[in-house]
Amino acid sequence: MSGRILVVGSLNADLVVQTAAFPRPGETVTGGDLSTGAGGKGANQAVAAGRLGGAVSLVGAVGADAHGELLRASVAGAGVDVSTVAVRDDAATGTALITVDAHGENTIVVSPGANGTLAPADLPDSAVAGAAVLGLCLEVPEDVVVDAAQRARASGLTVVLNPSPFRAEARGLLPLVDVLLVNEGEAAALLGVAEDAAPGELRDGFAALGVARAVVTRGADGCVVIDGAAAPVAVPAVRVDAVDTTGAGDAFMGALLLRLADGDSLLDAARFAVGVGAFAASRAGAQASYPTSDALAAFLRR
Ligand code: ADP
Repeated sequence: MSGRILVVGSLNADLVVQTAAFPRPGETVTGGDLSTGAGGKGANQAVAAGRLGGAVSLVGAVGADAHGELLRASVAGAGVDVSTVAVRDDAATGTALITVDAHGENTIVVSPGANGTLAPADLPDSAVAGAAVLGLCLEVPEDVVVDAAQRARASGLTVVLNPSPFRAEARGLLPLVDVLLVNEGEAAALLGVAEDAAPGELRDGFAALGVARAVVTRGADGCVVIDGAAAPVAVPAVRVDAVDTTGAGDAFMGALLLRLADGDSLLDAARFAVGVGAFAASRAGAQASYPTSDALAAFLRR
């Protein structure tokens, strides 16, 4: 039987404007039409798992505003239980202000808003007790991450951390984590190795930090799976014409959570997740680009 998935994390409205070139300091430029998308790492992870059929609860916070309503509706629309998403009267919903230039490069300013008000008391014991796995990111306060990981470990959940956006202090969280999910840039920052470090070097680096189980994602090059002393395995990507890789890492995480909750090995879960990440990269947006099981099956049969 599938285990329940608990995600404690952020919800952000992604406000995106295309511009021919980025404005210089003090300059004003006219961009294209504004698009407002549902994002935030916690919400993205929950939606990815929920849309694929997982039983998911999201713990987070939004403001009592239109963006908060949009986000709760998007997450609930993926079948995720949002009864544990708090609505704050005194904070705005988290927002990511994103500009994309003619080369597809972006600049992003995140205003945490209500995400920054999340507190350990927002995570009910009942949500922990009923779950098999916990997914965490670093877009909510660190005391929330530490408390959730400790309570989850005490209840026997598998704790999966995506230490993003990366901060060096994330090292202190590693003893509380069962599975670490990082992209190659985060792996390089954490381990002090090159982004294209060999799988064995990654395994040894993680082992030195006390991390036995980790997945390093490598965009169009797939991922490397490290599971204890066994030889690390490089899993190739599913080939796709990438349209927009926003939220591909979060899609991968949601898929990994789903399969770990089902009792899959880390390697089997990662083999499933590369397909979900590729699907997300082949479509625009974050949550808008995530597949149902049927859509994923059709995509993989192409
Ligand atoms: P992040 O978004 O966190 O930087 P990555 O870019 O490594 O993460 O992407 C996460 C996963 O999504 C990859 O491991 C891969 O499976 C999939 N993915 C991302 N970009 C592509 C791509 N261009 N082609 C195929 N799969 C991709």
